[in-house]
Amino acid sequence: MKQSKFFIPTLRETPKDAQIASHRILLKGGYIKQVAAGIYDYLPLAYKIIKKIENIVREEINKTEAVEVLMPALQPKDLWVESGRWEKYGKELMRLEDRNERSFCLGPTHEEVITAMVRDYVNSYKKLSIGLYQIQTKFRDEFRPRFGLMRGREFLMFDLYTFHKDEEDLDVWYKKVREAYKRILERLSLDYRIIGAGSGNIGGNASEEFMVLCDIGEDTIVYSDSSSFALNQEICDLKEGDPSPDGKGVIKYAKGIEVGHIFKLGTTYSELMKATFIDQDQQTKPIVMGCYGIGISRLLMAILEQHSTDEKPIWPKEVTPFDLHIIPLGDNLEQGLKVYEKLSKEYDCLIDDRDERAGVKFQDADLIGVRYRIVVGRKASEGIYEFQDLLKGEKKELKLAEIEKELKK
Ligand code: ATP
Ligand code: MG
Repeated sequence: MKQSKFFIPTLRETPKDAQIASHRILLKGGYIKQVAAGIYDYLPLAYKIIKKIENIVREEINKTEAVEVLMPALQPKDLWVESGRWEKYGKELMRLEDRNERSFCLGPTHEEVITAMVRDYVNSYKKLSIGLYQIQTKFRDEFRPRFGLMRGREFLMFDLYTFHKDEEDLDVWYKKVREAYKRILERLSLDYRIIGAGSGNIGGNASEEFMVLCDIGEDTIVYSDSSSFALNQEICDLKEGDPSPDGKGVIKYAKGIEVGHIFKLGTTYSELMKATFIDQDQQTKPIVMGCYGIGISRLLMAILEQHSTDEKPIWPKEVTPFDLHIIPLGDNLEQGLKVYEKLSKEYDCLIDDRDERAGVKFQDADLIGVRYRIVVGRKASEGIYEFQDLLKGEKKELKLAEIEKELKK
């Protein structure tokens, strides 16, 4: 990809209203643009990374045998009246009317729509269990939209719903999803903790949150320094230094960003919305449900919070927008393009073909955060380039064949 065509509108000034590093990088680096409070454009650089995150989620979730669907963002009021949430959800629900004065909302989540879908087709234990998921835009009129994509009013979410004949069957799928979430966060190179949590507006009886550890996190994680015991501070009354309730170690606090949530919903929605099936014993029973979410757009910022220093990102391998950043300086563009053509056969390369000074090119490259960089500079005529590994902080003068060897390592 040629940088002159990729539309990365970087800014020279650091945006003053952005309070956290990841938000500043996204604005300054030309990743996102604010359209209104809590509403953003995803520019090509961010969108390319977002698609990589989405695909990692798809790959790992598909292994649980869940299937991808796409439901409407626009949802009729009737379904929300059935579940009781038209009243209960409050001001966070974006409500609107059509030309015939029928009420709708813009979906903040999809329990109602999916329960209505499944109840119309699934009536026997023989058709259970099933898992359906989507990756889609969600709408929540947050009281305090802030930190860019971290708490948006329109954001990208992965949501999965599973349907079962009994609790045991739900447990099996719940565990599979829990493992899939771990693999996803590991592939995204995130340092995280799984914590017991309250279940907020969604209801139900058991839930866990996946928290990415990070100082700017809005949640406080209460954990034991010597076991996997961890809870959201919202639901417990433990102080730092207290003995851990599981008898192992003492309590510590850490800040975290919630990137994922898994719930055992049970029969809350199926009872309210009459989603039933006939079991093997001929009894009519409510379908047992699980629901699971991941904040796709929030993850973009969580990755940045953990993978940037001094406001310079280095994207982890699996989500890097490009494998290689080729930077020709001075009058070396033609030589740079040769390197680009050669390496593009094997790698996804970005070449800075713009007519800009070295300083500008490097400043922008620092914001784009591709780990491996090839500077085509002074010694280009001798076939020698500067190969940089940002993560190791190394710079080496190498020939192209040697660079290819380095990349293979
Ligand atoms: P929070 O406590 O942060 O408001 P939540 O409990 O309301 O989150 P869920 O309803 O469980 O969130 O939604 C699933 C996931 O969607 C969350 O784990 C989070 O990663 C993401 N998410 C929720 N609200 C937002 C938002 N306003 N902007 C971006 N991502 C969000
Ligand atoms: Mg919320």
